[in-house]
Amino acid sequence: MLCKTVYMLYNAICIFYNRKSIYRNKPDEIKTIPNHPFCNLQVYYERNHTMTFINSVTGPVNASELGLTLIHEHMRVRSESVHAQFPHLYDEKQEIAKAVEQVIRVKKLGVNTICDPTVMEQGRDIRFIEKIARETDTQIIAATGIYTYNYIPTHFQTRSIDYMADLFVRDIEVGIQNTSIKAGFLKCATDAPGVTADVEKVMRAVARAHKKTGVPIMTHSHPASGTGLKQLDILLDEGANPNQILIGHTGDTDNLEYISNILKQGAFIGMDRYGLTRECSTENRNNTVIELAKQGYSNRMFLSQDYCCTMDWFPEGVIEERFPKWSMSFVLEEIVPELKRKGVTEQQIQHMLFDNARCWFEGK
Ligand SMILES: [Zn+2]
Repeated sequence: MLCKTVYMLYNAICIFYNRKSIYRNKPDEIKTIPNHPFCNLQVYYERNHTMTFINSVTGPVNASELGLTLIHEHMRVRSESVHAQFPHLYDEKQEIAKAVEQVIRVKKLGVNTICDPTVMEQGRDIRFIEKIARETDTQIIAATGIYTYNYIPTHFQTRSIDYMADLFVRDIEVGIQNTSIKAGFLKCATDAPGVTADVEKVMRAVARAHKKTGVPIMTHSHPASGTGLKQLDILLDEGANPNQILIGHTGDTDNLEYISNILKQGAFIGMDRYGLTRECSTENRNNTVIELAKQGYSNRMFLSQDYCCTMDWFPEGVIEERFPKWSMSFVLEEIVPELKRKGVTEQQIQHMLFDNARCWFEGK
């Protein structure tokens, strides 16, 4: 009996360590920085200097080679349960064509990297994103996390925060959806319903996965209900690095007091919904960016569109009619020239479109 108990205990320890080692194993040339607070940050040691590598869907990318980066664009968004049950409603060929067309258009304008924060509940399909990256020869960085405004599936309701965090870590270190394509950042969302119990669980799991892996966090926030600040409270409570938190959709408000309360804590903000005019007009979005750039915050802001090359949330034609300017190239074609005309400097544009992505990935 004693022998059997010892054997079972031994087995349990072995399973625990094997499981750990699956996540921790890295190719030989990759080492982790000793005592780094986010100790799994992948760093290559080369000629006495360090370089951070970020996982894109087509392989690791040197952080110094991100180039012109759109921080928040979706190759495709769809209701995943509807697609699973009624796949005849969707036309993948058309979806690919639309995504390729948009990416090629911004590539011609100089874009080198796109961060695509499509995660669970938005119909993430990593092979689809990979296909677009390969067809357009563009670096696309995918995300892991859960996009929900209020509830999570029963599967997660009956399990712990750490269980969820381990799944996110697996996406980052092993691969997404049984592929070896790894996620490069984490995503969570809080909208008008606020921080519900389920939403808080996702946010804490995201923060814990960030601490284990060193990859940054992007949120979907709803400034009208102040959720960006609430997100920051929870993420910081879990010990996340504020320099690796991007409070998305902050540009949906022109309330400078609210925005500076986020910036004062060190986080990045997404002025990332250009072309969507329901929450905020383009002129107001621009005025906020101009004012914050004047205050010295160009090194904390990102310009993007949250564009979805295809999206099934509305009947066909509705989005085009409501938001005729919305596209993946709106910022580069119309907003950047306008910001420059109104006094934003080349260097500030460089921060918002080139340098900040590297800082966010590296935690600076
Ligand atoms: Zn989005």
